[in-house]
Amino acid sequence: MHRERISDDVYVFTSGMYAQVTASAIVTSAGAVVIDTLPFPGETRQVIEFIERRAPVKYVIYTHYHADHTYGGYLFRNAQFIAHALCRDLLINRGEAGLKLARAQNPSLAEVQLRLPDLIFTGEMSLRLGGKTFVLTHSPGHTPDGIIVYIREDKILFAADTVMPVPYIVDGDAPTMLRSLQVLKSMALENVVQGHGEIILRGEINETINSSINYLNKMQTAVVNSITANQSRDDMLREYDIESCGKTRIALNGLVQQLHAANLIATYDRLSTDKSKLAALKPRSAAAAPAQSVGKSKSAKAEKKPVKSANKPAKPKKSLSKAAGE
Ligand SMILES: [Zn+2]
Repeated sequence: MHRERISDDVYVFTSGMYAQVTASAIVTSAGAVVIDTLPFPGETRQVIEFIERRAPVKYVIYTHYHADHTYGGYLFRNAQFIAHALCRDLLINRGEAGLKLARAQNPSLAEVQLRLPDLIFTGEMSLRLGGKTFVLTHSPGHTPDGIIVYIREDKILFAADTVMPVPYIVDGDAPTMLRSLQVLKSMALENVVQGHGEIILRGEINETINSSINYLNKMQTAVVNSITANQSRDDMLREYDIESCGKTRIALNGLVQQLHAANLIATYDRLSTDKSKLAALKPRSAAAAPAQSVGKSKSAKAEKKPVKSANKPAKPKKSLSKAAGE
């Protein structure tokens, strides 16, 4: 496990055991708030030990119901758990069956119990603790129950799996994810903590979000082209690799290639059974690809955006990708 401090009393823990999944802690004078847990008990215990030397954990926020973010929950004995209402439903309806399977396949999960949220919300909620304001907002697309958590005073966004090295929409869908990514572009952000992988610094945030939007558009276009050309799924996978959709294959130690292939297949299956969705994407995907911004008539408001501190020296790559350390 790798630990990084991104602001006074804000820590991010990255799993060395599973897909660089992250858990975070915000330590305040009135107790700590934890955002997500790590899937393997050994790593979550290390997280708890570290935080509790500083403050008791008052709240644990689940960003969505997936196992890699929630399996450590049962180890937090005295915290209140917060999540979107759908997260609770999905943990009950899918989580138990998934856990049974996971326990059978992986002995180190034998002791894991599902810990359900106590406080649930829809839309948005705010939490105040020790002088910090946490704004929790529904952000579906990766899953139906996804949320993001914004700390107003620090301008740090815990984007969970709304921001990943490659957007992953198998349990959600690309159009919803695109809408959730657009929301992020209007936010004032110093750091974005992804659900998996490295922390994104201010100078890289816009580019990263745009690159995810670009990827999803290209991925959908690839699927539309593939279905229109009567390609099989295998032909599609051969033709449209991850680079052809604008992302590199090396992130998350190569796992992103599997995520990309799964995105293609899920989108292919959805669009081949829903001709109206396919038709809706067709004209747009044909026209939207290269020359998007040129068509805009010289609108005054597009020009007046201040260019944000452009020329920071290039930062060395952070060490999070070497998370396997501990
Ligand atoms: Zn995840």
